[in-house]
Amino acid sequence: MSELNLILTGPPGAGKGTQAKLLAKRLGIPQIATGDILREAVASGSELGQRVKAIMERGELVPDEVVIEIVEERLAREDCVPGFILDGFPRTREQAEALERLLGRARREAVRVVSLVVPDQVLRQRILERGQGRADDSEETIATRLEVYRQQTAPVLDYFRSRLLEIDGIGSVGEINSRIVEAIEV
Ligand code: AMP
Repeated sequence: MSELNLILTGPPGAGKGTQAKLLAKRLGIPQIATGDILREAVASGSELGQRVKAIMERGELVPDEVVIEIVEERLAREDCVPGFILDGFPRTREQAEALERLLGRARREAVRVVSLVVPDQVLRQRILERGQGRADDSEETIATRLEVYRQQTAPVLDYFRSRLLEIDGIGSVGEINSRIVEAIEV
């Protein structure tokens, strides 16, 4: 069986996390969410957590080398042999290039990229509704996160354009999940 290496990308509030979890369960491969890993580090009060806490609260990106190292370590684990779903990574062109290099070195199959497309207006509403639970879900940081996405992460789509599957991210969780499954043909 060949590997199924996926990136699930899209702006904050697009539903990446929800869809990544569903896909991981369905396909039997791990969801690797850099945001979750970083939040755990913050909660544990580790050295890494202390370094990234303030950056995350502002809605900015933590340094590339920090997340690249996290992902490299995580992808080397046994459970990633059949494949993986990256959720929230890569978020910059540098991260995308680092991922390509490390997959190449490990002689792994190229990633396929699923991009959830949702208009800004809908995103703001969704994030606010999700709100309060997360330290970076205030109105102010939402604006920053959308801006960071536009400036730093949207260009990553261009980098992967030959392998990009664009999915309409408006609809019920189940509908969107079906669209993704159809697009990746599993
Ligand atoms: P998320 O849960 O994916 O929205 O991530 C929450 C926060 O973690 C982001 O706003 C960033 O501060 C940080 N973060 C998560 N993934 C990355 C990444 N790939 N590169 C840089 N920062 C990240």
